[in-house]
Amino acid sequence: MRGALGGPRVLLRRLREVMAEPVSAQDRLDKVVVLIAANMVAEVCSVYVLRVDGTLELYATEGLKREAVHQTVLKADEGLVGLVASEANPMNLSDAQAHPAFSYRAETGEEIYHSFLGVPILRAGNTLGVLVVQNRARRTYTEEEEEALQTTAMVLAEMIASGELSSLAQPGAEPVARHAMHLVGSSLSEGIALGHVVLHEPRVVITNVIADDVPHELKRLDAAIAALREDLDRLVEHRDVADGGEHRDVLEAYRMFSYDQGWLHKIREAVTTGLTAEAGVERVQSDTRARMLRASDHYLRDRLHDLDDLANRLMRVLMGQDHAPAKEQLPENAIVVARSMGPAALLDYDRKRLRGLVLEEGGPTSHVSIVARALGIPTVGEIDNATGLVEPGDAIIVDGSTGHIHMRPPQDIQASYGERVKLRARRQAQYRALRERPCITKDGQKIALMINAGLTIDLPHIEDTGAAGIGLFRTELQFMVADTLPRTGEQLALYRAVLDAAGKKPVTFRTLDIGGDKVLPYMRNIEEENPALGWRAIRLGLDRPGLLRSQVRALLRAASGRGLKLMFPMIAMVEEFDKAKTLVEVELTHLRRHGHELPERVEIGTMVEVPSLLFQLNELLERVDFLSVGSNDLMQFLYAADRGNPRVSERFDPLSAPVLRALKDIVDTAKKHNKPVTLCGELASQPIGALALTILGYRTLSLTPSAVGPVKALLLDLDCRKGEAMLLPCLEQPVGSVSIRQKLEGFAAAEGLQL
Ligand code: PEP
Ligand code: MG
Repeated sequence: MRGALGGPRVLLRRLREVMAEPVSAQDRLDKVVVLIAANMVAEVCSVYVLRVDGTLELYATEGLKREAVHQTVLKADEGLVGLVASEANPMNLSDAQAHPAFSYRAETGEEIYHSFLGVPILRAGNTLGVLVVQNRARRTYTEEEEEALQTTAMVLAEMIASGELSSLAQPGAEPVARHAMHLVGSSLSEGIALGHVVLHEPRVVITNVIADDVPHELKRLDAAIAALREDLDRLVEHRDVADGGEHRDVLEAYRMFSYDQGWLHKIREAVTTGLTAEAGVERVQSDTRARMLRASDHYLRDRLHDLDDLANRLMRVLMGQDHAPAKEQLPENAIVVARSMGPAALLDYDRKRLRGLVLEEGGPTSHVSIVARALGIPTVGEIDNATGLVEPGDAIIVDGSTGHIHMRPPQDIQASYGERVKLRARRQAQYRALRERPCITKDGQKIALMINAGLTIDLPHIEDTGAAGIGLFRTELQFMVADTLPRTGEQLALYRAVLDAAGKKPVTFRTLDIGGDKVLPYMRNIEEENPALGWRAIRLGLDRPGLLRSQVRALLRAASGRGLKLMFPMIAMVEEFDKAKTLVEVELTHLRRHGHELPERVEIGTMVEVPSLLFQLNELLERVDFLSVGSNDLMQFLYAADRGNPRVSERFDPLSAPVLRALKDIVDTAKKHNKPVTLCGELASQPIGALALTILGYRTLSLTPSAVGPVKALLLDLDCRKGEAMLLPCLEQPVGSVSIRQKLEGFAAAEGLQL
């Protein structure tokens, strides 16, 4: 870069002095633009700040008319400045006015300037504003100048992110950085939490941005890269020492990127312009993040994620900071914000202090959300760049019931959520008071409310909900949260613990339901076009019986001397049930022959979740001891709508005639055969769903533990006969002529039932 005033390093040093001066925010900004303009031999230097309303306000200028400061406000996509902000990319033009996006604002007097160099002011990938230099002459700024301006923008990013500029803003037009933000993601675990941000993998806080001695910084960088590579080599060779449960292929990708010349070159270049080694890494990381946020291609996003992780590791090496956050220092009311997290990492946090969880990734079936639900931690997922939008200690509200997040919420939002939390607590107290009360409807129908479980952390819920037992024990969860395949001994220990915790109450174990979306990290994943329709659950169990047999053996041994109920997932034909049942009998014979004490009795049933079973109900019911309807999968297959994809899964209402007719058919046929039937899908956990099911004739429901209280409270006030008189005629009417959901809502309102 040219410049009589000594190039970027001198500029950075001067900027550091200005940052330390005890002057007002406006004075500081004014000095900054003068310094930059002088150093870059530019006639204009302006700073635009992105506001909460999405517009860009001119905050300071050298060269444009002073009256325009705080008056000129551009729309998000207006003019070249808007383009730089929305694309988060620099723009370097020798004749700005010839560009189609150029828009002219008379109050600024910029019509005499031809060349234009604008760079986004980025922090953690977020655009906070735009920094621009302009010249009268038609000139192209060199790559070095562009680089230098980006480096300078980093200093401004620090200033904006500190919140210093808020005092200059009109209410409602504050800088977007550090301001209240309301975002909507997907609800992964219900409940509301108010607290303060703890970053799962804290960003390395850089205290020194500007280098004193560039050659020294370059040396530090080289040494850190060498150390990083050594570290990765070690991790790849000894997978078991890798903390955080990272997979080998992820580590391999890191190792590959640590040799990526393009990436290393960019960092080195940033350091050469006068940043410290860690600030150079952060600058390039911020660019990577900005690209990541705009990339729609999954593969590209994943790779950019890897690069982002690698930059974090490199910064930690440079700053000498440990990889893992200090869990023991968790503040009260901690809300953990993470890009993604494994289930084991969540279990590491102190449950008493952890109030909520926010994830950038993670769908409802992700393993961490299963654990979050089991622990009752309100969780919201799919919040893009959540970790980049907050600082540790920021106030935050997580509404896991609706998927809403409020970052740095204003007083009124905090107060209203505070009220909601109190209301929920009052309701919980009411539900607790019902714990010992048997669930009998007003007209004397006895309903058994069970819970769904799958991990040892679920077991206390039998006691604290007063449930009648475990209606669905998802055995695959133990496999999903483990790093390696659980041995038979570990399975046996878990099943024993479950039966011990349940005491006299019944437990229905479901054999492994893996495959589909339930992926085991340590098993080779077979690529399938339609995993939900693929080689999963009992299909896998029957084709590769080793795993199923050892599981069945563990179950039979765990239940020695007591009753055992087990069922199979995804049965589609009665023959599959016969085969699976035979497998259990073979194991029973084997154990008997080896002198083991057998269970007192073994009942064998099946899940009803594949629609083909609806047309084999009589044959099926002759064979099974009981049925359990899996409404989650049954819905997905009946409507051909992926349960993990809200765009289609929310398109169809389970409270509609086709589904309710099928559910009624199942319960009626089971009654004819005198066989018990349970419903264990999510439908039963929603009060309105439980209402419909009870009216249809279901007498055992298995619920998410937190739903037991609300569902019981509702059913205690229900008169089933009245319900039947309302609902059953609706099922007879032509489909679409009446909204069954609305009918149910109307009925609940008239009867004073709380949905
Ligand atoms: C279901 O499909 O409804 C069910 C209970 O099983 P899962 O949710 O484990 O697939
Ligand atoms: Mg299922």
